[in-house]
Amino acid sequence: MSEQDCLFCKIVNGDLAADIVYENDTLIAFRDIDPKAPTHILLIPRRHIATMNDLQDGDESLSGELLLAATRIAADEGLADEGYRVVMNCNAAAGQSVFHIHLHLMGGRTMTWPPG
Ligand code: AMP
Repeated sequence: MSEQDCLFCKIVNGDLAADIVYENDTLIAFRDIDPKAPTHILLIPRRHIATMNDLQDGDESLSGELLLAATRIAADEGLADEGYRVVMNCNAAAGQSVFHIHLHLMGGRTMTWPPG
């Protein structure tokens, strides 16, 4: 899929509306349109990266920023003490459906393990 057709690039560019909870120069966090938990937020880099397999040397800072932003948003959403889950699906077998990497931040209910 090209960046032009990428759903999440459209959110980055402002061509598609999203319920944004946080953004900075590197990333955007917005509420999942079909939440799988009472709180379900997606964190994406502004830059189009299709899958985790496409992360490269030099993306260490970006990867860390996504994780750190998730912890801060979890705290803002009141999830830090009770707990939350952070997931990134890579490719079809893992359930990836949008090919612009995104960290799922989910909380507000008890999670089971292992995930399906
Ligand atoms: P994944 O299956 O890991 O690729 O996750 C993609 C996620 O994107 C799913 O949880 C969808 O509900 C979510 N999603 C798809 N389209 C939108 C959208 N326009 N705004 C917010 N979330 C979306």
